[in-house]
Amino acid sequence: MPELPEVEIAAGRLNAAAAGATVESALAPGMVTMKTFDPPLDALAGATVAGVRRAGKMLVVEFGELALLIHLMSAGRLQLFGKRASMRDRASRILIRLDGERELRLREFGTQQRAWGKLLPAADVDADEAVSTLGPDAYPAPPADEFAGLLDQPRHLHPLLRDQRTIAGIGRSWVDEILWTARLSPFRKASELDGDEVERLRAACDERLGGAIAHYEDVVGAEVPDKMPMPLEVHRRAGEACPRCGTRIEAVHFKDYVMCYCPEEQTGGRVLKDRRLSRLLK
Ligand SMILES: [Zn+2]
Repeated sequence: MPELPEVEIAAGRLNAAAAGATVESALAPGMVTMKTFDPPLDALAGATVAGVRRAGKMLVVEFGELALLIHLMSAGRLQLFGKRASMRDRASRILIRLDGERELRLREFGTQQRAWGKLLPAADVDADEAVSTLGPDAYPAPPADEFAGLLDQPRHLHPLLRDQRTIAGIGRSWVDEILWTARLSPFRKASELDGDEVERLRAACDERLGGAIAHYEDVVGAEVPDKMPMPLEVHRRAGEACPRCGTRIEAVHFKDYVMCYCPEEQTGGRVLKDRRLSRLLK
């Protein structure tokens, strides 16, 4: 599930490899992937890739006057391949064929088609609803005053930090890591944090998201892998020992994600009710 650090490194690697390439053709085998139809995707033929950048958890591939805004959702990957996809590859969603047989390919794993693309005039990208509604990036974390203002909402920290309109780039993996690093309960109300807690949270955003980017810069080569080697310490580690205090990491299961935390350091020793379990027991 690509979040700010994963999308940041993908944008950097793709930018280094694809900038300057000429588009030979472009098509979208994913029938529902393109959310815009005018201009059509094949208007990219003959254009030059100007660069690839990140906007929140989205990617923007710039082609001079046009730009392709891509949301990977939970299972999409944008990668550059040295040869073209087989038309039978059911994971293909958008294929941008470049000179030299290369292909910039949006693929999506699993059966759902949720990743999407919008081909827009380059000047309109920042005004597009998906971009204009983003809060400031979580990394580098906003200045202390601004960060405190964003958190001044009576909402639980876990959903608040994942709300892209409040702060951009954090999803279900990094939220667990950031809260654990800050030693804060996922169920604390943001507006009830004191100044020291707000600052711990802000520092945790920088430490963990910046740390992940630095890690990927070291270990990820020129090609973006299907699965990023995420340096996670608590997320998806329920049942293992907390790397800091040795307490068993606990989890709360929701319909489509799992929240992990250290009871000793984050919830005053309390093990939170597992909603999956309580639903089964009803
Ligand atoms: Zn711990």
